[in-house]
Amino acid sequence: MHADLHTHTTASDGQLTPAELINRASAAGVEMLAITDHDTVAGIQSIYDRAPPSVRLIPGLELSAIWRNAGVHVVGLNIDLDNTVLSQGIKQQQRARAKRAEDIARKLEHAGFKGVLDGARKHAGNDCAGRPHFAQFLVHSGQVKDFKTAFKKHLGRGKAGDIKNCWASLEDVIGWISAAGGAAVLAHPAKYKMTNMRLEELCKAFVAAGGHAIEVISGAQDAALTDKLARLASRHGLLASCGSDFHQPGQPWAELGQAPTLPSSCRPVWEYW
Ligand code: MN
Ligand code: MN
Ligand code: MN
Repeated sequence: MHADLHTHTTASDGQLTPAELINRASAAGVEMLAITDHDTVAGIQSIYDRAPPSVRLIPGLELSAIWRNAGVHVVGLNIDLDNTVLSQGIKQQQRARAKRAEDIARKLEHAGFKGVLDGARKHAGNDCAGRPHFAQFLVHSGQVKDFKTAFKKHLGRGKAGDIKNCWASLEDVIGWISAAGGAAVLAHPAKYKMTNMRLEELCKAFVAAGGHAIEVISGAQDAALTDKLARLASRHGLLASCGSDFHQPGQPWAELGQAPTLPSSCRPVWEYW
C-alpha cells in the first residue's frame, strides 16, 4: 500500500489547495491519502464528496496538544467529519489558535517588529495565524532575511513566538478523535527532541489515554530512526503510520508520497479501519 497519511493544504499552512494536493498525490502514485490540516477539517470537508477515484481519501486532521509542558501533535485518521464532540474540540482549538496569534504578535512587536498581527493574518487568510504565517510575513515585509532565520531566532522552540500552553491536553485531543471513530496517531515522535526515556513515557501516556498509533515514518528519515520507532511502536502495542508531513512542493525532506515505506515488522494503522 502506497500511503501518505500526513499532509497539509491551504486550509491550514499548506501551499496547495485540496484539489491540487490530490492531483499531486495521484501523480506520485499514492493510493491512500490523508489530509490532516492543523486544527481544522475545512480542507478535507470541501473535497471529500467529489474527490477523484484515483486516490483513496482518508479524512483527518492534526491537533496540537500539551503533555507535561511539551507541545506534541496528534493526527486523527479516518474520523467522522460530522462528529459533534470533535467539532466542539476543533472550535476550542481555533479559539486558542486565534488568541495565540495575538500573543505571538504582541511578543514580536515588543521585540521591535511592525505590523505583525495584520500581516500574519493576511498570510493565513483568517484569524488563526500559525508560526509559518508569522515567518512568511516577517520575510515578505523585509524584517527578517529568510524563513529559517525567522524560526531560528524568533519563532522556534524556546523563542518569543513559541507559545504552546494554549492547547488542549493530550488526553482531551485523543478523546475527541476517538469520539469521532478515528485512530489517534502520535505525529513525528522524533521532532520533539525528547530523551529516549521521556519518549517512552510519552508513549505510555499516549496508550493510557487511548491512543492507537505512532508515526514510524515522517518524511525523509534514516533507516536507524525508522528501526528505533518501529521498535518503540511494537513495545507499546501501537499501530504504525507513515506520512510526508507535506506542506509545499520543493521541501526535499517532505515531498508528497516520497517517504520511506513502513517496515514489514509494523502493523499499519489502516488495520484500524
Ligand atoms: Mn504546519
Ligand atoms: Mn506537526
Ligand atoms: Mn503536520
